Amino acid sequence: MTGAGTAGERRIGVLALQGGVREHLDLLESVGVHGVRVRTPQDLAGLDGIVLPGGESSTIDRLLRIFDLTDPLREAIRAGLPTLATCAGLITLAEQIIDPAPGQQSLGILDITVQRNAFGAQVKSEEATVDTTDGPVRAAFIRAPIVTRVGSGVEVIAEHRGRVVGVRAGAVTAVAFHPELTGDALLHASLARSVERA
Ligand code: GLN
Repeated sequence: MTGAGTAGERRIGVLALQGGVREHLDLLESVGVHGVRVRTPQDLAGLDGIVLPGGESSTIDRLLRIFDLTDPLREAIRAGLPTLATCAGLITLAEQIIDPAPGQQSLGILDITVQRNAFGAQVKSEEATVDTTDGPVRAAFIRAPIVTRVGSGVEVIAEHRGRVVGVRAGAVTAVAFHPELTGDALLHASLARSVERA
């Protein structure tokens, strides 16, 4: 895949329908790649990678369908577009959702089952350092999901409180937390490196 920007400049999209977009754009810039907002199927053209932000997964699902992005986004990621998904983004990629909102669908790209809002009322939100296989990440958990089933071909890259909170399959990395809210660029740097290799 070739970026459409100036020669050698890598462009990574941030799905910008709802949720925390600005923080991801800032972290991408901090690791030396140009971040661009994705709102239409046309915006996917020429991207070298994509970030699916947190927010509310059922709203993101509805907006993906309204903006005719569901199928093009699924196809682009299936075709190997390097992807980083956080929180609601993880839910968006999952094969199966426990406790979905009424009518909520997902892209079915990662062979995992996720449970929404899984840490319960007592741990609705917290900040913690999570050991990932890429290194420690300062993470914010906000009504975070957990991964309750991991299919074959999916690697667990992070656990927190004994639960799976990060997975990777091929070029897709998905975490249940928000590294962008603490300004931790480790996973964005990993994405940028995988884009350099692609
Ligand atoms: N609980 C939210 C959902 O179901 C995810 C929360 C988040 O992205 N911080 O989409």
